[in-house]
Amino acid sequence: MEQRLRKLKAKMKRKGLDALLVTDLRNVRYLSGFTGSSAALFVGRRTHFFTDFRYQEQSRKEVSAKAIIHITTKGAAAELVLLPELKQITKIGYEGVHLTCSLLENLKKKLSKAGKFKWVSTANMVEDMRVVKEAEEIALIARAASITDKVFAEILPLIKPGVSEMDLSAEIIYRFMRYTGLPPAFSTIVASGPNSAMPHARPTKRKLRKGDFLTFDMGCQWKGYASDFTRTVVIGKATKKHTEIYNVVLQAQQRAIKGIRANISVKTADALARDYITEKGYGEYFGHSLGHGVGLNVHEAPRLAALGNGKIKSGSVVTVEPGIYLPGWGGVRIEDLVVVTAQGVKILSKSPRNKLVEL
Ligand code: ZN
Ligand code: ZN
Repeated sequence: MEQRLRKLKAKMKRKGLDALLVTDLRNVRYLSGFTGSSAALFVGRRTHFFTDFRYQEQSRKEVSAKAIIHITTKGAAAELVLLPELKQITKIGYEGVHLTCSLLENLKKKLSKAGKFKWVSTANMVEDMRVVKEAEEIALIARAASITDKVFAEILPLIKPGVSEMDLSAEIIYRFMRYTGLPPAFSTIVASGPNSAMPHARPTKRKLRKGDFLTFDMGCQWKGYASDFTRTVVIGKATKKHTEIYNVVLQAQQRAIKGIRANISVKTADALARDYITEKGYGEYFGHSLGHGVGLNVHEAPRLAALGNGKIKSGSVVTVEPGIYLPGWGGVRIEDLVVVTAQGVKILSKSPRNKLVEL
């Protein structure tokens, strides 16, 4: 935590900020260790942590020793205005992406009693630091991925005609709760038959039938870190069309997994899979980007997309998830989590993917 704060302070210095108010809970967690649901961090010469009575006990246990803990009764702004160090500062940064306009107005109003400040909207100051994962973070994501593998393996025997998407999603969520104590990292997708043509379908009462593609997109949280994983299986015997489409997606994913390494652009990464799918005639049915970073958030930087910018950094953890979706018929997506290094990628999810599973 101390190293992270040091890094952040160096960035603040380069931007000429005297202090930064961090209000996004994931960023607060990243910088302080606090896992609760209400907190803010004021990073100046010293680091001040604000939470309310509910988290008095928890914050003492979790928040790194470097931060001064304030238990507020009237909100963080009312406490913040009392800090003596406000006298020495003028430029205060805030997280423009996360702080609401009304909270900002309130802050400005309250703090105007303590001095004249220049409020500066910042973007991604902490998020950019979170892109490159430390070894411990990768270990937590790997653990989340392995729990997800385990849950998927337990779900496979439950898949048969007559079972509904909602039944299966409930079975998945129940297991995530049992193994992690927490709800899934995002809302679990179980999409069968024509529903599998919708990349973000919600589970319905639809019962599985022979000839359906069935897509699961699921992930859990382990100590704050998310996993993200997708597999598609077929109910009954696969037809030629099922096998063909599955194999195009699989090949596209394999090309991307083989080609991705540190310092290639996110556009190039996306093209590794997209060009192949296009070559096979399904380009227009792969409408989303190839992947995204995963960490404290299930969707975070970098975005592996045709319209994305920048290069993939060594130490980032990203998904590789090409798909083909044929409206009214069905779709296939295969998604795995990988750690990017200079040499290539290391795959964190271990569930088999190399053959279309018939159930
Ligand atoms: Zn996913
Ligand atoms: Zn994903």
